[in-house]
Amino acid sequence: MSRPLLYLDYNAMAPLTAQVRGQIMNAVGLLGDQAGNPSSTHSFGRNARRMIESARSEIADVFGVESKSIIFTSGATEANAMVLAGFDGEILASSVEHSSILDARLDMTLASVDANGVVSLDFIEQWLLTARGSKALVSIMAANNETGVIQPIQEIAALCQQNGAYFHSDVVQAAGRMPVDFKALDCATISGHKLGALPGIGCLVMKETFPLRAMIRGGGQERSFRAGTENIIGIISLAAALTEAMSALRQNDWCRVRAHQHWMENEITTFCKDALIIGVDASRLVNTTCITMPGLKAETQVMRFDLEGIAVSAGSACSSGKIKKSRVLSAMRIPDSVAETALRVSLSPHTTRKEVESFVSMWKLIYESIDRRNNTIRTTNVISAA
Ligand code: PLP
Repeated sequence: MSRPLLYLDYNAMAPLTAQVRGQIMNAVGLLGDQAGNPSSTHSFGRNARRMIESARSEIADVFGVESKSIIFTSGATEANAMVLAGFDGEILASSVEHSSILDARLDMTLASVDANGVVSLDFIEQWLLTARGSKALVSIMAANNETGVIQPIQEIAALCQQNGAYFHSDVVQAAGRMPVDFKALDCATISGHKLGALPGIGCLVMKETFPLRAMIRGGGQERSFRAGTENIIGIISLAAALTEAMSALRQNDWCRVRAHQHWMENEITTFCKDALIIGVDASRLVNTTCITMPGLKAETQVMRFDLEGIAVSAGSACSSGKIKKSRVLSAMRIPDSVAETALRVSLSPHTTRKEVESFVSMWKLIYESIDRRNNTIRTTNVISAA
């Protein structure tokens, strides 16, 4: 039997919780017995429609918006593409956005960030003044997936409002992990699998005034913004996961995570004075630590941790499984030789102190086993700590 894994990669994906699994199984039963195509007018179709609309209103309640503000998509990549690709006007994004934003359009202005990865409000204000008079959109993420660095989205929303521009935020990593005022945003992007829902579901939370253009046309679903028969089970899982995540946020379960983060970062940087916490002077998500291990490439660290049963990530987890140079760390002007040693550890409210201790022990063992002549590790020195 394989040994149990210690999973510390929640920014890549949060596994389904027992509660979400239960709701999914329930919905599968209903779909098998009593539900049809949600666009059909017979009772089977109406049952499916009820399941979707009840999930939509549960999600809207969680975000404090109206049901019609929620547009379901296949995930955040599609949602981001819908927002940007169809926008007919000037666009400003930041240089540390997720690739689904950076690669969605080639004609955007990119706002640079400081050494901690925080976007400049002055730059945004200047850009808004220049763009005044034309239709303009600012798209800045709430929190970064690689570093956890939080952007001042409340202030950016106010600047956009003062200057008549639309504001979109990719809140994929922030939702359920820190308070987000959805009423202040014209449009926001959510991904289900970062919250413990099934992969393949996400949504936009959008004001009626936001000029969204449909990319997929056909059957008129999702108020004609996104055609195609709805992913009913995915939608149910999204509602269940969001409700659970928001309740953890309200109950302050994340305070424990903050304590784990402090302890872990302090322990490693005391042990190894040269280890750098990326974005250390900025506000960061309490679950995310991006830390360098001087002398050892992140991909080797990831493999070594994996062999010891610990799942972590090197910067952004790419879909191909390949580790590319991080555009985020480059934008923060971190030298390549440092950036390539940066490991991302991301926790959940269910992560225990014992698990964090196991990670730290293994980090120290791996660090001590680095063969500095070859920048590799002497594997015999590493013993199991997970
Ligand atoms: N935006 C951010 C900040 C992300 O972290 C991710 C996933 O890593 C995405 C967008 C894309 O999400 P999805 O996998 O739902 O397309």
